[in-house]
Amino acid sequence: MSPRVLTSIVAGLPVPGADRLADRNPSNLDDVVCEVELSGPDVAHDAVRAAQQALPRWSGTTPWQRAEVLDRAGSEVLARADELADLLAREEGKTLIEARGEVVRAGQILKYYAGSALQPHGQALDSVRPGVEVTVTREPVGVVTAITPWNFPIAIPAWKIAPALAYGNTVVLKPAELVPACAWELVDILNRAGLPPGALNLVLGRGSQVGPVLTGSPEVDAVTFTGSVGTGQAVMASTMTRGAKAQLELGGKNPLVVTEHADLQVAVECLIQGGFGSTGQRCTASSIAIVTDAVHDRFVAAVTQRLATWRVGDARADDTDMGPVVDSSQLEQDLRYLEIARTQGAEVVGGEVLDRARAGHYLSPALAVGTTITDTINTEEVFGPVVSVVRVPDYADALAAANASTMNLSAGICTTDLAESSHFKRHSSAGMVMVNLPTAGVDFHVPFGGRGASSYGPREQGTGAIEFFTTTKTAYTSPGAP
Ligand code: ADP
Repeated sequence: MSPRVLTSIVAGLPVPGADRLADRNPSNLDDVVCEVELSGPDVAHDAVRAAQQALPRWSGTTPWQRAEVLDRAGSEVLARADELADLLAREEGKTLIEARGEVVRAGQILKYYAGSALQPHGQALDSVRPGVEVTVTREPVGVVTAITPWNFPIAIPAWKIAPALAYGNTVVLKPAELVPACAWELVDILNRAGLPPGALNLVLGRGSQVGPVLTGSPEVDAVTFTGSVGTGQAVMASTMTRGAKAQLELGGKNPLVVTEHADLQVAVECLIQGGFGSTGQRCTASSIAIVTDAVHDRFVAAVTQRLATWRVGDARADDTDMGPVVDSSQLEQDLRYLEIARTQGAEVVGGEVLDRARAGHYLSPALAVGTTITDTINTEEVFGPVVSVVRVPDYADALAAANASTMNLSAGICTTDLAESSHFKRHSSAGMVMVNLPTAGVDFHVPFGGRGASSYGPREQGTGAIEFFTTTKTAYTSPGAP
């Protein structure tokens, strides 16, 4: 059977493209998930214009109408969770359990923002001037471009699109080239759930070609972006110079501190899940274990033992703990960082390219032991199943090492000592702190984001999202003549 062909969607209609790109399954490179007809800058322009034309109608809907669309879409995502999880695992390579979790999360996010659309978001206050009334209301920002990465093919588009639509904006979504099918399904579901044509448009194209139009067009009022630092800087340049809003999520270099007061089993599981879950391809992945001297050797031995039974294989097989790396260039990057770590003195356990029944990008989980916090592997984001270990004398040094991260998205500590965990929560310089939990794994109803080079602009998700997707208006009213 020939693969499905997907196209961009502008104003509710499919738009054929000139070039075709095959979307391949990283667990089985012979398996083509779909073919994509790639759009160029002209279609990106059309999508922006369609969003602009749809804005008066969509921003003029009642909160109830917007809530109904989002709720209906959320119900369909949840009802089709198994099917969409299979597509996600096939397209991106995370395991079926992880993929199902992500799809359910996308459904929950849609429903959360359905509820949020109906919440009171304004204020009515007495003025400091007698007889004058003040109201602070929230209005949509306008046309929003959402640019998303490959590692959460349905959840990240959902957590950008849902609040944008809930608060009355119109949207152009540009997903990563590696994962078009999940994004296409989400847009299709939302359009069928009752969006007017043009309220949500999909541009399937190469970032270098369509990106500048989607971020730099004068009609685009705000850009929400998740991806690499380099591309984020380009997005920043093309939005800031014309005064458009920007929200950037650029990754993380996340430490997990393990002290001698940790429950060893809990600490091992936190590192395994946080470091190697989703093949380590999460911006919240625990990439550095900072371990105090008293427990270091026991911890490393226990993690190594646990990894020896960790099964790497086809993302959709029942007995797989970890799927493949997403593509060949990411695999090369993982191997390059492991080589640099070895050169700088680390002993690497694992990190071998694996053969499986079908050709895929398989890599065994890697632990780089004996690193220092200033080594390259501890200062740059690897984005693979690679964790390095840093030995420190005590908790104070562990905290200092954890705070050395310049991409402070999520920091964790494993300890049963209340004073230590309280101190860490207070003094960590990360945007999110986890105690006896993996650094990855967050809730959808609270703000998400990091500090330093990790994030720019208002927080994403939950109660935080309204700051980016709305703009306030302060109105003063005097009763005039009595
Ligand atoms: P990653 O390394 O995770 O692929 P990228 O920053 O390259 O991170 O990609 C994240 C998203 O940014 C993708 O959807 C990609 O197509 C898009 N992108 C790439 N180049 C540009 C650009 N110049 N402008 C806007 N978006 C871009």
